[in-house]
Amino acid sequence: MRILITGAAGFLGSHLCDLLLSDGNEVIGMDNFLTGDPQNIAHLASNQKFSFIRHDVSNFIFVPGKIDAVMHFASPASPNKNSPYGYPNLPIQTMKAGALGTHNALGVAKANKARFLLASTSEIYGDPEEHPQKESYWGKVDPTGPRSMYDEAKRFAEALTMSYHRFHGIDTRIVRIFNTFGPRMRLDDGRVIPNFVQQAIRKEALTIYGEGKQTRSFCFVDDLIRGIYKLLLSDIHDPVNIGNPSEITMIELAQEINKMTDNPTGITFVNNMRLGNDPERRRPDITRAMDLLNWLPKYSLEQGLERTIPYFREKMAQ
Ligand code: NAD
Ligand code: UDP
Repeated sequence: MRILITGAAGFLGSHLCDLLLSDGNEVIGMDNFLTGDPQNIAHLASNQKFSFIRHDVSNFIFVPGKIDAVMHFASPASPNKNSPYGYPNLPIQTMKAGALGTHNALGVAKANKARFLLASTSEIYGDPEEHPQKESYWGKVDPTGPRSMYDEAKRFAEALTMSYHRFHGIDTRIVRIFNTFGPRMRLDDGRVIPNFVQQAIRKEALTIYGEGKQTRSFCFVDDLIRGIYKLLLSDIHDPVNIGNPSEITMIELAQEINKMTDNPTGITFVNNMRLGNDPERRRPDITRAMDLLNWLPKYSLEQGLERTIPYFREKMAQ
């Protein structure tokens, strides 16, 4: 297949490029480097099957030649209000990437009669009242709250994707991605694993936002990307959760990272860093992915961290 990936220079987009290329596809990467890093795709420069277009997806997208699939990953993704790369500091760009960017990317799929896959998010469930979260749950999202620029952009993107599917017959997929981590996350992106791992390597106290009883379920990037590729090759139009269902509090996560890095300093609680409407509990119900895609995550949190901590050590030393 000849596949357009928007957000190709980002954390997930760059891993997706690698997997698709290794399976014999031709990949056109697109990115404007708003939160991504050219280094993430530098190793692909000499690959004959990879090409790159620097472009903001909020503007009309033109790609020469026939395309078989469009995978729309372009969007800021970190909720950290203290990072310049967090979506609270990029609210208009975030809404434009989710709304106008999705419209333009769907337009490319329609013009090419191509498959379309939307990178959606567990954030569309908001601060959930149902646990774990099944795809059938409609979510609890504040439409004007501090996360609304991201949550509502993604909810709009899902609705637009289904509209193109139902009205224009476009062959669409929607993946609801739960917290994912691994090499190529930005050092300064502000998400919890990059923050904790760097603090632990520096032998500092790990900054827990709030009381630390909030939970997340962390998926190693290789598992996630494998699941997304399976979804692309499937014929499922309804949303599919992809994530690791093993749930952990932020205190337990901090303890695990301190143990793995021999950090004796411990943890510290900081309240003013926490963004409002921070979900208290999050865990994917992955029954649909297991039944329809025959997909299961393989890496435990510890195995994923064993592959991630050395990446951060190396980056911090540069
Ligand atoms: P990232 O910030 O590393 O990657 C996003 C990429 O999109 C960056 O390279 C950025 O420069 C690019 N981009 C942003 N706006 C753009 C625009 N207007 N035009 C072109 N490029 C643009 O984040 P990520 O973690 O790789 O997330 C990728 C996608 O997956 C996002 O859509 C995000 O919402 C979704 N997602 C990620 C997670 C996760 O845990 N990583 C969870 C849920 C959903
Ligand atoms: N968090 C934390 N310390 C940090 C960064 C984040 O305790 O240094 C918390 C944050 O408040 C949230 C959880 O960790 O409850 C996961 O945050 P992240 O930014 O990784 O992503 P989210 O799941 O909120 O999208």
